[in-house]
Amino acid sequence: MTIFEKIITRQIPAKIIWEDDDAVVFHDVNPQAPVHVLIVPKKVVPRLTDATDDDRALLGKLLLVARDMAKKLGLSSGYRVVINCGPDAGESVPHLHVHLLGKRALAGHQDSSSCVPARVFLAPKAPCS
Ligand code: 5GP
Repeated sequence: MTIFEKIITRQIPAKIIWEDDDAVVFHDVNPQAPVHVLIVPKKVVPRLTDATDDDRALLGKLLLVARDMAKKLGLSSGYRVVINCGPDAGESVPHLHVHLLGKRALAGHQDSSSCVPARVFLAPKAPCS
C-alpha cells in the first residue's frame, strides 16, 4: 500500500481540500510553490503507463478537477499541471497523481538532461537556455 492509499483511507493525515468517489485532493507535504496540491485517483493505478482505455474518463476527470482546484485556490494568473511517470521523471510515489502548482512564476520545464535536475518543474531555477 502506498502513502497515498493510506491518505485516501485516512490511515495517515493530510490536508485534504476536496474529495469525491473518484479522487481526493490534498496539499503536498513538501510544497514547491505557494500552492502545490496533488490530485489523486482513488483507483490504484501506479502511473500513467499503467492506465488503460478503461481509465479514459478517470484521466479526463483528473484534469478537470485540476481546473476546478486552480479556480478554487485562486490561481488566476496561471498554474502548472504535472504528472511524473517513472524514474526519469522523478516519480517518487507509485500511485498516479497530478501535481497542481501556482501562485508564483514557475521555472522552466524543458528537457533537463544537460542543465538542471529531472524535477526541474518544481525547482525555483531559471529556465534552461
Ligand atoms: P512524485 O515525485 O511521485 O511526482 O510526487 C510525489 C509527491 O508526493 C511529492 O511532491 C511529495 O512531496 C508528496 N508526498 C510524499 N509523501 C507525502 C505525504 O505523506 N503526504 C503528502 N501530503 N504529500 C506527500
